[in-house]
Amino acid sequence: MTQNAVPVPHPGWTATSADMPAAVGGTPLILLRKASAATGCEIYGKAEFMNPGGSVKDRAALAIIDDAERRGVLKPGGTLVEGTAGNTGIGLTLVANARGYRCVIVMPETQSREKIGFLRMIGADLRLVPAKPYRDPGNYVHVSRRLAEENGWVWANQFDNLANREGHRATTAPEIWQQAGGRVDAFTCACGTGGTLAGTALGLHDAAARSGVTPPRIVLADPEGSGLYGWVKSGDLSIEGSSITEGIGQSRVTANLEGAPIDDAERIPDPEALEIIYSLLGEEGLSVGGSSGINVAAAIRTARKLGPGHRIVTILADGGARYESKLFNPEFLRAKDLPVAPWLA
Ligand code: PMP
Repeated sequence: MTQNAVPVPHPGWTATSADMPAAVGGTPLILLRKASAATGCEIYGKAEFMNPGGSVKDRAALAIIDDAERRGVLKPGGTLVEGTAGNTGIGLTLVANARGYRCVIVMPETQSREKIGFLRMIGADLRLVPAKPYRDPGNYVHVSRRLAEENGWVWANQFDNLANREGHRATTAPEIWQQAGGRVDAFTCACGTGGTLAGTALGLHDAAARSGVTPPRIVLADPEGSGLYGWVKSGDLSIEGSSITEGIGQSRVTANLEGAPIDDAERIPDPEALEIIYSLLGEEGLSVGGSSGINVAAAIRTARKLGPGHRIVTILADGGARYESKLFNPEFLRAKDLPVAPWLA
């Protein structure tokens, strides 16, 4: 590949009667110049921040709604409810707006005020709840399930609804395979629900099997404060430290993550991810959020382990503007002893 950004033909680009959901996916694969030069590898980021709702979660939202429609559980004028760190809520609300559904979004109040403001702006019926661990009945996921049961609403259930990962298997993976010219040596990805990691990994394995080539090495990118690094390395969901990143990290093996072909894991501290986020923005013009920094950090570590000449793909899950109040807020960062972007310091 010689081009920096490789778009794929997307059905929505040419259809004259396409609605918003037709514009989900078909995102460019961008060469990350500095990470590539530093490692002697080609490191690419799938620009998921370019989706209509601004994140990779538009794909899961559309796949879940399409599946609920097909199964006949979501009927015209129906109501959807979901617990989310925000991005799935944004995707679900936009697709629901386009298709005439109502959307109730349950979200921990600790998530960025930009995501909260955006959800209100687009018309989500937003219910903020205190942040609680999954084992607590007040956890946002359980609140959303109870609201569905009590009101007869459709529960999107992104963590354990396999329509999520199947959406990535059917779209994200084949796009990457085509854009990377049928050769991917490694794929690194963080996990919230596990839909992106597992679905893309399974789809890349499908594509490699069809071509009769070795499947890419699949590497989980985990922030501190998540149990999955320990789970991959030793089968033990042990939690250490904490992270300011949002939407990633997990204390259990979700149905979407179960059975994913994961070969290795990297645990990335926030300062390492932040330095990458600032470099991507300041030196390459790519504005990305916290999970993208974790993903690219894991891609760089994987490139160093594999050695020069390998092609590694990762996910740029959402954009930096969603976290201006945290990742680009010197007071917030200094209070946590975290690095500040040089131009803001
Ligand atoms: N990055 C961001 C910014 C997210 O919002 C999410 C989803 N919460 C993820 C990564 C993780 O994606 P998935 O749910 O597919 O594991």
